Amino acid sequence: MADVPMPSRSNPSIAALLLDHSTTGIALVEGDGMVFAYVNEAFQAIAPDRPMLGRGFEAVWPEVAAQFLPVLRQVRATLVPVELEDVRADVRRRLEGPLEEAWWNVTMKALPPRGGEPPAIAIHTVDRTAAVRLRRQAELMQAEQERLREAERAARGAELVAEAIPQLVWTCGPSGETEWLNQRWRDYTGLTPGPQAGDPWRAVLHEHDAPRWLNRWMTAVRSGLPVDLEARLKAADGSFRWHLLRAVPLRDEGDRVVKWFGTATEIEEQRRTRDAAELARRREADARQRAEDASFAAAQRAAELDAVLDSIADGLVISNRENEFERANDTALRLLGELPPGSDWLQRFVAHDEQGREVPGGQLPPVRALRGEVVHGEELRLEPRAGRGAPTWLSVSAAPIRDDRGAIRGVVTTFGDITRLRELQERQSDLLRAISHDLRTPLTVILTQAQMLQRKPDDAATVVRRAESVRTSAQRMAAMIEDLVDLVRLEAGLVKLTPRAVPLAPFATELRDRLRGTLAVERLRLEVPDALPAASADPPRLERILVNLITNALKYSPPESETTLSGAVVDGQVQLTVADHGPGIPADEVDRVFERFYRSPSATRKEGLGLGLYITRLLVEAHGGQIRVESEVGRGSAFHVLLPRAVAAEVEA
Ligand code: ADP
Repeated sequence: MADVPMPSRSNPSIAALLLDHSTTGIALVEGDGMVFAYVNEAFQAIAPDRPMLGRGFEAVWPEVAAQFLPVLRQVRATLVPVELEDVRADVRRRLEGPLEEAWWNVTMKALPPRGGEPPAIAIHTVDRTAAVRLRRQAELMQAEQERLREAERAARGAELVAEAIPQLVWTCGPSGETEWLNQRWRDYTGLTPGPQAGDPWRAVLHEHDAPRWLNRWMTAVRSGLPVDLEARLKAADGSFRWHLLRAVPLRDEGDRVVKWFGTATEIEEQRRTRDAAELARRREADARQRAEDASFAAAQRAAELDAVLDSIADGLVISNRENEFERANDTALRLLGELPPGSDWLQRFVAHDEQGREVPGGQLPPVRALRGEVVHGEELRLEPRAGRGAPTWLSVSAAPIRDDRGAIRGVVTTFGDITRLRELQERQSDLLRAISHDLRTPLTVILTQAQMLQRKPDDAATVVRRAESVRTSAQRMAAMIEDLVDLVRLEAGLVKLTPRAVPLAPFATELRDRLRGTLAVERLRLEVPDALPAASADPPRLERILVNLITNALKYSPPESETTLSGAVVDGQVQLTVADHGPGIPADEVDRVFERFYRSPSATRKEGLGLGLYITRLLVEAHGGQIRVESEVGRGSAFHVLLPRAVAAEVEA
């Protein structure tokens, strides 16, 4: 201390030292531009990288110039010092830095004037920023505490009210810990938990409800949302009573939860009446559900059964103990027609056995099954008693349906449609009859004529007539035998074709010439264009095809009517058509005339085996061709034969 001389006005160097190192920022400004003539360390430290000496106030402190320049001028003009306390003046502490919040104590004082010069002004600054901030924080904290105290008082007020109300009331801290429980709570539970008693709810909540409440309560504490739940609370006497537990958060201005208020309202009565209603409702709903389930299961089983039944190709009918119709699959309904449930379905038909005898009701397969018999594949011809519908041949099986105890509770009857099969069988026996008849007829003619020729010498004309008769009969027999032989060989795949190019116009002309004398070819008009491309065909087989069609055309049409054989190119192939003005073929038979042994039941009976068109089709198909018929009843028929065109190699050969 001895080294440091006491400051004194007479020692300018000490005064300068004190000025320079003072913690108060000191500066001197002078002239109109308020140019800095002096700044001490502390003043420079406000903005260390800012050059100040020799520069005007505005240039040095642009951010606060508007605030302080007028005051400085005022001080210079009036010579009255100005002291500003804790004035806010935000400054840039670094040149390019941000404006920073700052508070200052600033004193501006004019120095004693020297001569006539306007006085310089001394500026003293003390940075109050830290102090002001501290003070502000303290103020804020105080306000906060005041608010808390206020809330506390309010809560306490609420608690006082809560003490009085008949509900159980409690409060919890923001993180859920129980703080306070009202008198009613203590009365109800018989518990007086001390501060260290742990969670008072553990002893009170029913063990079934505790986890649920805890779960909901924790979620509420986390989310800050109100919560309620019905739970059983244990009373002092050990009984449990239903309560509605509800907790709502109390928030401060910052929206933070500061407290939870909880209430528990007894709802034992409501619960009981509601439970009774609920129980009744639930029982009813259960019953309804069970009924729905059952009917659903039943419907599902029925649907499954229907699906199974419908997937069976045979007809299937299920009937009950009285043999009344219960259900059937699609095939059965198609074969038997619509059957109303509960109807005596067996009454709707007359059944005949293979011998054509009517089967009495008691002998029908379903009736026998009802007596315990299992019937397999009985062939019956069923004819509807009323209404239309063709008789059908059915192969009928029937078996009893037995319940768990073996009692018969119904019958399942299945049947396959064997009408076509029976028809074929019938046609085959028809064929045998036809063969024996049709072959025998010309044979009888031949035998009779031959005998006549032998017995007595006739005149020449009669001999010629008899010989002619023998020849045509023999020819017809030969044709029939040929049909039968062809049939066997074609079906056995023994017919090998040797196709070659057949120019159709000359072929048709030659064919007609050859048939003269055998068929009434004068009724046949040829319309095969000379330019028609050659077909690829086996000539003898092509001849059979055309002869069959022409024979039918002449046979089935009136003797005076005309028939035509025409040709055309269709789809790049050659088509030959034999058309007549005969009776035509009914639409439902058109597809069947090419079947084996098919003879139209509607046509007037003519000699024939029902093989001609069948063989014709097989021959056309063996050529790789197609045959079809266009026909209109009463107008006539046109049989179209489509054949492949001859290829170049065939034409040259
Ligand atoms: P069929 O020996 O009876 O003539 P087809 O196989 O040649 O045998 O003919 C089968 C059936 O087709 C005949 O019974 C007849 O009813 C019918 N049919 C064939 N051709 C004609 C036609 N041109 N006009 C009308 N019906 C025909």
